[in-house]
Order: sequence, then structure tokens, then C-alpha cells
Amino acid sequence: MTITKIETLKNYINGEWVSATTDKKEEVYNPATGEVIANVPISTKEDLDSAVQVASEAFVTWKEVPVPRRARILFKYQQLLVEHWEELARIITVENGKNFTEAHGEVLRGIECVEFAAGAPTLMMGDNLPSISTGLESGTYRYPVGVVGGITPFNFPMMVPCWMFPMAIATGNTFVLKPSERTPLLANRLAELLEEAGLPKGVFNIVHGAHDVVNGILDHKKIAAISFVGSQPVAEYVYKRGTDNLKRVQALAGAKNHSIVLKDANLENAANQIINAAFGSAGERCMACSVVAVEDEIADEFVETLLDRANELTIGNGLDEGIFLGPVIRDTHKERTEQYIATGEKEGATLIRDGRLDNAAQEKGYFVGPTIFDHVTSEMKIWQDEIFAPVLSISRVKNLDEAIELSNQSMFANGACIFTRDGGHVRTFRENIDAGMLGVNIGVPAPMAFFPFSGWKDSFYGDLHTNGKDGVNFYTRKKVMTGRWE
Ligand code: NAD
Repeated sequence: MTITKIETLKNYINGEWVSATTDKKEEVYNPATGEVIANVPISTKEDLDSAVQVASEAFVTWKEVPVPRRARILFKYQQLLVEHWEELARIITVENGKNFTEAHGEVLRGIECVEFAAGAPTLMMGDNLPSISTGLESGTYRYPVGVVGGITPFNFPMMVPCWMFPMAIATGNTFVLKPSERTPLLANRLAELLEEAGLPKGVFNIVHGAHDVVNGILDHKKIAAISFVGSQPVAEYVYKRGTDNLKRVQALAGAKNHSIVLKDANLENAANQIINAAFGSAGERCMACSVVAVEDEIADEFVETLLDRANELTIGNGLDEGIFLGPVIRDTHKERTEQYIATGEKEGATLIRDGRLDNAAQEKGYFVGPTIFDHVTSEMKIWQDEIFAPVLSISRVKNLDEAIELSNQSMFANGACIFTRDGGHVRTFRENIDAGMLGVNIGVPAPMAFFPFSGWKDSFYGDLHTNGKDGVNFYTRKKVMTGRWE
């Protein structure tokens, strides 16, 4: 697969690259240049049907493949991902815009998921008790659930699909992926490498497209479970419609992550971490820092440090060396972000750095420079909404209690961080904050693959999160056998 030639991407069904049964397509852009790099087909429900049919047939034999043999394919896959690391990172930067170092890091996060899933022989073990009564024993056995549908967002074209399919297939399920139509290229390369690793035909399939494919997944009788990651309204919709159709659904949603900076913190570290968390990947991370609650006494000094750091950031094409801040994903997203900046001004927040004025913002790519608002309150839309761009809000608070109370007003509860040297403050924060992923003196507390990615409130719908033991439980179902040996 080359990304220098403009082609219409194919779907991957039963180990074959097949054209969608429609001429409907969308253009895929390099957000740093505005150039079209591919077309993505907007596949039909019929395309999805053929993929699900194939996946359900493949399930019959794949679930019987001994677990260590399934794991061995993932070991081979891990090797191939390592060998192709640079190439994969380059595709991510070209279709998503994040800088090459970040893309490199994203490939690592994907590889870690594959490594975790390769532990399936241990992870799938059941429990047993040899004597629940005299001569009577009981034990659990784990089995796959069937065909799993995966629906993914644009912001992590490698890591998010890797939260899903490696564990799903390692535990014996078959998989149909609907990648984001805005960053669809990387998924096809992942499929090619899976094939090279020896994955049998039909176990992993890709159907490109948009709403029709998603609705097809939500309604399909032969799909047992759905993993979704994306924005809050769509996650809620997917969860409701999927569970209404009696499917197992995990739906990871949007976020507005808060960081609390206390006066006893190492302010140098706090500023560096927050700049990275707010403006890294152009703020298009579900774990991005969007709001900082800073204690009044140090607020002026801290805001000044943030401003100095933000002014040092380099903006441009993420493939160029030394670039920190790449573009946002589309021109429409750039416009939406600029409208939010205007809204913040109207709402009365103090705009201390305006990313609309950076030089790169005048170029063809979809650039918005680092933007910082001070004196932001929870009544403002810029405080409430997920902007998903390099826009940081600062709220000034009297103390930790006020900071926690403020943060807990958000409808979202994905991540939250505290910067302090005081263990007691850390405990108060941990016990009282509404968020599923907490950071202490770090800016992006995204858990590694062996822990669950565990948002709360409107940042997650479902029960079992992705990754960690939750992931194993989500993709398996149990039998409990009780018996007496005669
Ligand atoms: P999105 O919701 O627009 O799209 C996600 C997927 O849903 C895509 O595959 C898209 O084709 C599909 N989709 C979009 N609208 C749909 C509709 N009306 N009906 C059916 N399907 C639809 O999300 P995005 O903009 O691609 O990704 C960014 C969002 O994802 C942010 O809100 C971010 O916070 C969130 N996200 C969350 C996590 C997490 O772990 N909680 C991780 C990554 C991204």
C-alpha cells in the first residue's frame, strides 16, 4: 500500500481486498498540507453483511484453534509491527497530523496491546475449587463471544483499533473493524501485517465507511459484541442502540480533563507536563488536559510560565524535524475551534494567547496555535464542552476542595491530574475526584494495556472497559461446571 498515489481504499473481507459495492466515497486529507491522499469508500450495509457472514463462518474454526497457537500469531505480529514501526508512524503523521515522535509513541502503545493479548493462554484461564462440598468440585471456563464489531475514531488510528482486535482475536473471536473515515489508511496496513503473521482468512475484516456501516454493526444479528471509541453523542447512541439489540457494548466517549495545580507543586514540572498534555497531538487526545485549576496564590506566576512555554512551541508539518504542534484534523474542525475561541472571548474569559494569530494558521494546512484562556468559569461553554483542539482554560481556585468541586461539575470524567508534593492532598484528590484515570505529577495518565482504560460518567457507557482484565472479560463469556466424579 502506498500513500503517495491517490487510490480508493478497498475493504478487507475474508483475506481479500475487495471494492465496496458503491461509488460513494470521501476524500482523505493530509491535514498538514490540505492535499488529498486517498479516497475512502462509504460502504453499504451489504458490504458489512458480507464481512459479518465471513467472520461468523471463520468463528466456527478459529475458536477451536488452541489458545497458545492463536497467541503465537500475535507474537509474530508483534515482530512485524516492530519491523515496520517507522513506516506505520509515518502513515499516522500523514493522515492524522500529529508529529512523528508522537506517532512513533502511538505505534508503541499499539504494540503493547498486542504484547498483552499474546498472554491469552494465561489471561483466559478459569478458576476452580476442588471441593465445594464433599467430593464435589466447581470451576469456570472461558470462551469467546463470537463476532465482534469495532468502531474507531480519527485521533489514534493505530492505538485504538489495537485496544480491540488483538485481545478479541487472541481470545478466539472474529472481528469486523470500521475505522474512522478521516484516518482509514493505517488500518489497511495493520490488516496486511496480520495476514503476513499468518492469521487465517476471515478472522479479521475491515469495512470502511460511515453511519450506514455503524448502524449495520449495531443491528446485525450475527454480531455479539461491539467496542466503540469516539465522541460522546455517538457513544451514547451506539450504546443505546447496541444494547437495545441485546448486544454486549463498551462505548468510550469524549472528555474534558482537569488538572489541579497546588501551591506546593514543582511548578516547573507542572507547566511542562500541562503544556504537553494540552497541546500535544494538537489537543486531539481523549486524555488531553483541557482545564487547569490553579491555586490563587501561585496563579499569576504559573500562568506566566505556561505562556512562556506555549510561546516556545514549534508549529508545522509533523514530519518535519523539531515540530511539536501539528494541524487539527480538518478545515471544519479548525473553523469550529476558532468559533470556540470567539465564544470564549464573548463569554468574558481572558484570552492570553490566541492561536488564530500564529503564522502557521495562515497556511494551507489546518493549523491552530496554542491558545490559552485565563479566568474561565464553569458557566462558560469553553469550560463545559470538549473542544478537542489546542485550547487550554485556566480557572483560579482558593484551595484543593474548591478545585475538586469545580472539576466534578463536568459531565465528563475520563482523566484528572494533581500536581503537589503532599501525600495527604493526593489522597483527598483520589478519594473525591470524579474521574476514572488519575495522574499525580504527570499530565497524561493514560494507562498501559494491562490496566483498563476506565473513564466515568459521560466519558464511558458500559460496564467492562477496554484493556486490562476488563478487556479479557469483555471478549469472553464463562461456563461454570460443578461435578462429582464417580
Ligand atoms: P466520532 O464520534 O465523530 O467518530 C467515531 C466513529 O463513529 C467513527 O468511526 C465515525 O465514522 C462514527 N460516527 C460518527 N458519527 C456517527 C453517527 N452519527 N452515527 C454513526 N456513526 C458515527 O469521533 P472522532 O471525532 O472520530 O474522535 C474524537 C472523539 O473520540 C473525541 O470526542 C474523543 O474524546 C473521543 N475519544 C475517546 C477516547 C476514550 O478513551 N474515551 C479515546 C479516543 C477518542
